[in-house]
Amino acid sequence: MRGSTPTLERDTWRYGGNTACLELDVAGGPHFILDCGTGLRMLGNHLHAMHNRWSRWEGDGGIEAHVLVTHYHWDHIQGLPFFHPFFEAQNRFHLYSFQSKHLGRHSLKQVLEAQFASPYFPIDVSMMTATRSFQEIEGGDQWDVRGTHISTAWLNHPQGCLGYRIDTPAGSIVYATDNEPGPREYDNNLRQLAQGADVLIYDAQYSPEQLASTRKGWGHSCWLEGVKVARETKAKNLILFHHDPDSSGRTVDGYLSAARQEFPCTWAAMEGMSVKLSERGTEVALPESRLGQRRRLKFSATVSGQTEDGTPFEEHATLRDISLQGAYLSLHNRPRLQSEMRVVIDAMGDHSNSNPLCLRATVTHCTRVHGDQNGVGVFFVEDADSDPPRD
Ligand SMILES: [Zn+2]
Ligand SMILES: [Zn+2]
Repeated sequence: MRGSTPTLERDTWRYGGNTACLELDVAGGPHFILDCGTGLRMLGNHLHAMHNRWSRWEGDGGIEAHVLVTHYHWDHIQGLPFFHPFFEAQNRFHLYSFQSKHLGRHSLKQVLEAQFASPYFPIDVSMMTATRSFQEIEGGDQWDVRGTHISTAWLNHPQGCLGYRIDTPAGSIVYATDNEPGPREYDNNLRQLAQGADVLIYDAQYSPEQLASTRKGWGHSCWLEGVKVARETKAKNLILFHHDPDSSGRTVDGYLSAARQEFPCTWAAMEGMSVKLSERGTEVALPESRLGQRRRLKFSATVSGQTEDGTPFEEHATLRDISLQGAYLSLHNRPRLQSEMRVVIDAMGDHSNSNPLCLRATVTHCTRVHGDQNGVGVFFVEDADSDPPRD
């Protein structure tokens, strides 16, 4: 969901740092992968694990998937050499993208093989033993894969980009990333593609102000354009996608809340987020996003927020567990940096449970504050033998 390049900065963790890669699973139907950014490595490991689980009962027919690539910018292809299912002979992949005028025939095949060229990668492409077929498509093409209809449209992006619409028996998904609004022909393409979609995944890399000034001509879009397209095409849900690598979680939060004022059914793409379409409607689920281990501790709290329909609320609640990242403490001793420390805290407010909170930590910071006092920063680490409590 991250655009342009993967991110590792802490303030980008909440939405995630992998570049574009989505999985689309049609119940009882084909399996699709949309784009091959750095997220493809994790998807490969997930598919491998899932497949091993199923093949115990169903025999080993291998993994089969249709891989739809929007264009050849790094952030959409960089995961290809790290997709483990490509290295297993029983797997089959059907890859689709357009013929680039810079590369000529077999563009996608060339792009894949070029990533294995010396001296850029340690092994040869011949190690990829899975069956791979390549199909060249272009904007306006339509085809069916086992009851699922796919249509494409050209988007406005340097060196070209395809938007995809996938109509499944459960609903329609439009994947339109890397698009700059403006030229009428492309704006119409996008609107045609997104017409009445259940889910529109749209490029929202910049703020509307950036798009109108410093980032004009860079080939991307903003939440406000996404809202316009969603409204005009009567799309049911809008997912802001391709977050700028320099956008912190708070920046993306800001885009999301601004978009929700205009189009309430808006979401911001997040690592591991899933959207399920069924006769019950659209269900969005987010992955476990708390970093660090959970500790059971009871506190009473007053909580205020917004309900699903946007109504503000406030209520008293019991906080049942808390995840702990680390602590800052004052010590007479000077612990060694990167050494292990044990911190035992009395669980205040937890009258029903007198067990102290025992935490293993690693020392990340130590400075003399005054006299014989040291300011010590520690990062809590998981006990090797403890299971985090789950509710
Ligand atoms: Zn991109
Ligand atoms: Zn691009």
